[in-house]
Amino acid sequence: MPKDPRNGKPLKGKTLKRKREQEDLSSLIQRVEDLNVKEPLKSFADLPLSDPTASGLSASHYKSLTDIQSRAIGNALKGRDILGAAKTGSGKTLAFLVPVLENLYRKQWADHDGLGALILSPTRELAIQIFEVLRKIGRYHTLSAGLVIGGKSLREEQERLGRMNILVCTPGRMLQHLDQTALFDTFNLQMLVLDEADRIMDMGFQRTVDAIIDHLPKERQTMLFSATQTKKVSDLARLSLQDPEYVAVHEAASSATPSTLQQHYVVTPLPQKLDVLWSFIRSNLKAKTMVFMSSGKQVRFVYESFRHLQPGIPLLHLHGRQKQGGRLDIMTRFSQAKHSVLFATDVAARGLDFPAVDWVIQLDCPEDSDTYIHRVGRTARYERNGRAVLFLDPSEEKGMMKRLEQKKVPIERINIKANKQHSIKDQLQNMCFKDPELKYLGQKAFISYVKSIYVQKDKEIFNLKELKLEDYAASLGLPGAPRIKFIKGDDTKERKNAPRGIAHPSSDEESDGEDKKKEEPQVRTRYDRMFERRNQDVLADHYSKLINDDGTRVADGTNGAADDADEDDFLSVKRRFDAGDKDLDVGSDADDGAEQRKDAKVVHIDGSEPLVIDSKRREKLLKSKKKLLKYKGKGTKLVYDEDGNPHELYELEDEEGFRARGDAKEQQAKFLAEEAERTRQADVEDKEVARQKRREKKEKRKAKERGLAEENYVAQLPSDVDDVSTPAESDEEEPRPTKKPKVSFVEPEKSKKGDKQAKPAAEPKQIGSLEELEDLASGLLG
Ligand code: ADP
Ligand code: MG
Repeated sequence: MPKDPRNGKPLKGKTLKRKREQEDLSSLIQRVEDLNVKEPLKSFADLPLSDPTASGLSASHYKSLTDIQSRAIGNALKGRDILGAAKTGSGKTLAFLVPVLENLYRKQWADHDGLGALILSPTRELAIQIFEVLRKIGRYHTLSAGLVIGGKSLREEQERLGRMNILVCTPGRMLQHLDQTALFDTFNLQMLVLDEADRIMDMGFQRTVDAIIDHLPKERQTMLFSATQTKKVSDLARLSLQDPEYVAVHEAASSATPSTLQQHYVVTPLPQKLDVLWSFIRSNLKAKTMVFMSSGKQVRFVYESFRHLQPGIPLLHLHGRQKQGGRLDIMTRFSQAKHSVLFATDVAARGLDFPAVDWVIQLDCPEDSDTYIHRVGRTARYERNGRAVLFLDPSEEKGMMKRLEQKKVPIERINIKANKQHSIKDQLQNMCFKDPELKYLGQKAFISYVKSIYVQKDKEIFNLKELKLEDYAASLGLPGAPRIKFIKGDDTKERKNAPRGIAHPSSDEESDGEDKKKEEPQVRTRYDRMFERRNQDVLADHYSKLINDDGTRVADGTNGAADDADEDDFLSVKRRFDAGDKDLDVGSDADDGAEQRKDAKVVHIDGSEPLVIDSKRREKLLKSKKKLLKYKGKGTKLVYDEDGNPHELYELEDEEGFRARGDAKEQQAKFLAEEAERTRQADVEDKEVARQKRREKKEKRKAKERGLAEENYVAQLPSDVDDVSTPAESDEEEPRPTKKPKVSFVEPEKSKKGDKQAKPAAEPKQIGSLEELEDLASGLLG
């Protein structure tokens, strides 16, 4: 039995325990010192790790080490700066989280030591996922950890920040706190981690990151991780890295992407992309798919319109403009979904670890090969298989293939089976015509797409002039391409230098061709004159609003392009009507100008007589949906055939064909009999469907009950971690204030079955606030 050196008496109880802990600690420190980092290690057990980390890892079922973990953790434990590069899905998160926990543990980090480690992530979603992994493997530690990603009031976060040992955060929010939170001190910081480091170091974050670094002590350990790591000296200098260990496990690999990933591309002209995407989704209803697009507006339009078309698989969408709560909810739902399609912008391109994604589709070409690598990296993670398809316009193929080759991305061209392809253009046009809001989204999507191509840096890939924009607009269901003006760049220059007549063709020219051109001076309308005057933006705006607010389009008699060069915003938009489109459109002056007053317009509203707009009052009427109802009629019900094409419920056939089939009376009787039979049949089917639905519902409920009883990590994702989520602030309950501090990791596995903690995934609104989350956590630990 060990004796007390002071009085020679045997040691007992607490003292004994403390002594043993100290011995363990010094032996752990020794083992780290003795560790040979050159030796390849196979499992976590081979590493000199503390008991809490070892237990946390094994309770999370992590045993063997991935390559990057094997090579980076040892060096990091020894306090080296790390530049870690390894393919997507290869386990980089643990490669930095384990050293973070361990290095603070060996220093016996406690409450009063303040912030010990700062982990930066480029997006909120990734920060949340890193925090979740930290909570999982850190559950037996006594360190406190928080999440700082914004979305809640600064004040609420401020109070908790001062007490955190580890923070996972996004750069913007972090800087805000460093600047504004008085009690938040970083002088003691030991470790700084940048996940997706190349992204955090790039232009978008540059100033923020530099400002954050200004707040941090220079003497610290810094670790950078990414699948597309750069060794840019300037970046390393900005971070004051000290003789970093460059750990690049796949540098010699033949490809930059996981070997379990199959990569293909299809060449599809821009106007057919949506058709191809639709056909793809329809033929992969039993898959989990992510679809990347270039802007949030694209995402919204495709999501909303495809939802209307009911593809038969749950659709989700994720982009930066959504509210934080909603974003979290979508992440949880996509994580748990077996079959689903998630439409997303590049907020979801980096780092996110959704389980079992089968397909990554890139509807819009990524801005560069790095973005490509990260997007496809959402599938084929950690030894799983995955498939990726890139959609390219013919004009993008050569440039993009060159870039991918340079980056060692193995990709092959495939063709789309023509018989599987189905066009949704007519349906989209129908929907946009009926639903002005959808049309509006479509216009926004069009504009943002064009803008995204325009601002792309890599002109070897992206060339706006090569794209068939009119057809593209039609493929979105729009009645014409929204007019976009380019203030910078060669397009504008060319237009500016062109003779006036060519630069600003009137609608007459467009619809009626050459001969009309000569007559132009005589048939000019007052709108012609209006748009030819300069600096008439206000009027022009007013006019375009006239067109916007209802579902109809009004001929303006011109293309209104006279103020091109006067606009000083970067891109601006006006509606342009398509004079050839008689069904939807307007009797332009060219068509019925003879009968109408010269400045009058005729509007065709769905299901009614043409409406002549010849007075201010009538123009006003166009703005009021309610008043227009009088002219619009009720709308008609459509049915869709097997190919998904819309038809009227009863379509008129031509009279000759009808007569040829015999006596009208007989036909009537036959028709009635057939319809009666059809109704009876449909009734039987309906009942069967209803029964089936009831059965499914019941089964779902049962499965849910069963699911609640099982341990599910994702289900533990608190619904409200849009904030500093410090699961337990249990200072009061903890008898010893310092070296044995509070326990701040929630322990998901220990949460009682069916308690509130396990619910949020199914009922995300259960935990309404951070306070509730904290109460819950302390309840669990109490
Ligand atoms: P990366 O950051 O390199 O893209 P992640 O850290 O997100 O990869 O890990 C990818 C997946 O691999 C995660 O689902 C993670 O749980 C799993 N994983 C990581 N390390 C291991 C390991 N040692 N054993 C088993 N699975 C692991
Ligand atoms: Mg990662």
